[in-house]
Amino acid sequence: MTPGVRPLIAGNWKMHGTLREATALAEAVQTGAKPGAELLVCPPFPYLVPVGGALAKGGVALGGQDCHAATKGAHTGDVAAPMLRDVGATYVILGHSERRADHGETDAVVRAKAEAALAAGLIPIVCVGESEAQRLAGEAEPVVTGQLAGSLPDGFAAAGGVVAYEPVWAIGTGRTPTEPDIAAIHAAIRGNLESRFSEAGSALRILYGGSVKPGNAASILALAHVDGALVGGASLVAADFLAIAAGV
Ligand code: PGA
Repeated sequence: MTPGVRPLIAGNWKMHGTLREATALAEAVQTGAKPGAELLVCPPFPYLVPVGGALAKGGVALGGQDCHAATKGAHTGDVAAPMLRDVGATYVILGHSERRADHGETDAVVRAKAEAALAAGLIPIVCVGESEAQRLAGEAEPVVTGQLAGSLPDGFAAAGGVVAYEPVWAIGTGRTPTEPDIAAIHAAIRGNLESRFSEAGSALRILYGGSVKPGNAASILALAHVDGALVGGASLVAADFLAIAAGV
């Protein structure tokens, strides 16, 4: 944890759930939320409005899982950053490894989307992380710092942008890097943010993501420069998500 920085526990619901399940989950998260970490849920696009309604009492933020780089236009199936803002989202996850893999998103695409998010007043959560082959080849750190250089726009720090370190091989697998390995990458990310953004880079939140569960969250969140978590599977169970948040 970085002193003086409020941790962020973000739930990435991915492509899961029904309308009824989504609103029930949001209500349960809001009801159980405790002071401490900032909580964020990122439902599938069709559920943003009803989940926003379920969170109307405040205290839990709403985010999208992606946005387009353009503000409007002929882009069938896409969603623009101002639309997310319009329905009450304050965050957007960008460059998740599933988007990079399923939709061929490059660092340049992620950067353009992050610029659109900033212009719309959304806080981007930009995801980076190495594949298993890259880790085994000893390339985790240069891969991650390369993704940062390519994906973060210049206005990122001034807007309080968030970086999520998610090793691709840890997502949904139940496997995580060792704590020293997580700490080493987070320290490298911090150094990268400080060299690019000076002092503003010291206060930006760096989340860890990849098989975060109630049982491993507290010790991961206690590591230096781990300022929260991006949670997939465990964010679909309110009690688990809240237990992770209680670990900060
Ligand atoms: P997981 O997913 O917690 O299910 O591993 C994390 C993510 O992809 O954001």
